[in-house]
Amino acid sequence: MSIAAAVTPHCRRPFLFTATRAITRITNSRTMSSSTTTSQMERYAFLAELGISQTIPQKGVCDGHTWYGSGPQHQQINPATGEVIGTVQFGTSKDYHKAVSAMLAIKDKWALTPAPIRGEVVRQIGQRLREKQQALGALVSAEMGKILAEGVGEVQEAIDICDFAVGLSRSLNGSVIPSERPGHFMMERYNPLHGCVGIVSAFNFPCAVYFWNVAISLICGNVNLWKPAETTSLVAVALVKVIQDVLKEGGHDPAIATLVCGTGKEVGEVLVQDQRIELVSFTGSTAVGRHVNQVVAGRFGKALLELGGNNGMIIDKDADLDLAVRATLFGAVGTAGQRCTSLRRLFVHEAVYEEVVGRVGRAYASVKIGDPLDRGTLCGPVHTAAAVEKFLSTVAEAKKEGGRVLVGGKVWEGKGLLKGGNFVEPTVIEMPASASVLEEEAFIPVMYVVKIASLEEGIRMNNEVKQGLSSALFTSSPSSVFEWTGPGGSDCGIVNVNIGTSGAEIGGAFGGNKETGWGRESGSDAWKQYMRRSTCTINHSKELPLAQGIEFGGNGTGEGKIMD
Ligand code: NAD
Repeated sequence: MSIAAAVTPHCRRPFLFTATRAITRITNSRTMSSSTTTSQMERYAFLAELGISQTIPQKGVCDGHTWYGSGPQHQQINPATGEVIGTVQFGTSKDYHKAVSAMLAIKDKWALTPAPIRGEVVRQIGQRLREKQQALGALVSAEMGKILAEGVGEVQEAIDICDFAVGLSRSLNGSVIPSERPGHFMMERYNPLHGCVGIVSAFNFPCAVYFWNVAISLICGNVNLWKPAETTSLVAVALVKVIQDVLKEGGHDPAIATLVCGTGKEVGEVLVQDQRIELVSFTGSTAVGRHVNQVVAGRFGKALLELGGNNGMIIDKDADLDLAVRATLFGAVGTAGQRCTSLRRLFVHEAVYEEVVGRVGRAYASVKIGDPLDRGTLCGPVHTAAAVEKFLSTVAEAKKEGGRVLVGGKVWEGKGLLKGGNFVEPTVIEMPASASVLEEEAFIPVMYVVKIASLEEGIRMNNEVKQGLSSALFTSSPSSVFEWTGPGGSDCGIVNVNIGTSGAEIGGAFGGNKETGWGRESGSDAWKQYMRRSTCTINHSKELPLAQGIEFGGNGTGEGKIMD
């Protein structure tokens, strides 16, 4: 199993290891293994390309015109080493209101800008992302902890959605509907929202999730405020700097894309409650999403929810096991198990169970754990020390419920600089089907394996949990494919065949059902959520017939019409 085989499915353009000088310097500096300030400056030299200082705190609020922040200073940590990469001065609720005021001032002008011109702005943003892709990818990798190929791939995803949005800006089509009344014309029009859009995002996709939202929302004619995860605030500052540069150079009002870094408790909460934020697009845990949903519903706003997943994959007896094992490895180990679509529950038919478990074990043994910025690494750290604790308690709980650890199960001790990192061993645990740990999304690289006797049993187990994000079936039987994708099949938002649970393309609508929140983002018709749909009926006749043939106040001959 090669590294390229494991990572390229996500980076749809092959990831070329032709990194910029900045990245070469990072890689070289790892071999120096010195902890002096100078070598740390060298390791993070790519920050300079992004306009981020390692020593001076970054202001975490941008209203388009100025950068400020009057909240606490937050140290941004590399989870692989524990080093402080930089500092971001958070915003407060007062800072938040200032950013919203700036957005409101430009809202109408942006909404009246023709959609293809809005698309041209997004095209330029995508172009600038291309120019900064390697440095941005390195920052995503350093601050979030995913391996460099995935960090760069995440920026590629942002570029792709910009391209998609540009095309969409010339085709925000409503439909023309036949009217039952003579001389009448019915159509749907999509207009920008009346209010602003608030985007609250999670730590694990600090770049792509924002762009899934902002690229589409911008071409739809909305002004946007982003509240990123606390622990990935440097990525947010870097991305908004890129956008601001493009907007200012192009003479567009930069308040169409504002940023408020801050805590969920203060800034997130005030955003969710703010009546002026018509659409809250929230990506994060089901626990926080439940609260967000209730608050937004209470004020009759729109909530777009992308919450926790607990993704299952079935390997049926007629599966191509080569493909299935590779997909298992990428799904469960990629991003150290910290994708919302990560593979958590593997259901294997008893006829191939021993072979699959053996091959998965051998594939796991080839996984190199280490610094995500180093090329050979396949599994980086988990994001926080709390996630390491969660890993230990989850493994203990699984054992208590009859689980047998097949691979991993322990904390991984790094050497040198990595001593300060949050590393755990990617872990496979064989579980009895009845175990309650199977019901929970633990956001760590632990995959449970369960033996099944039939496809039907696998589908039942796949659907038994409260979450409904991603699912996959490996089979060579056409009838199983149609059973799996049909009404009696998977109940998830993402239903794959012969590919794993993670690594979605931007062209499809992304999201999940049940406690994953029912939201859909990115491609297909997800754009409609960022717009206000009007059903318009235009009477171009001299009569006023009522729908359903109702006669109101007349004798049916046109005499005695009520409005005469
Ligand atoms: P989290 O819920 O802890 O935080 C998400 C965001 O919510 C952060 O920006 C946080 O500051 C903010 N927040 C916290 N309290 C808030 C409040 N009261 N009001 C408003 N905002 C508040 O999630 P996390 O740990 O950052 O991310 C991991 C979770 O996100 C996992 O469950 C994962 O499955 C999920 N996720 C889902 C998707 C998807 O598309 N379905 C994508 C990525 C991540």
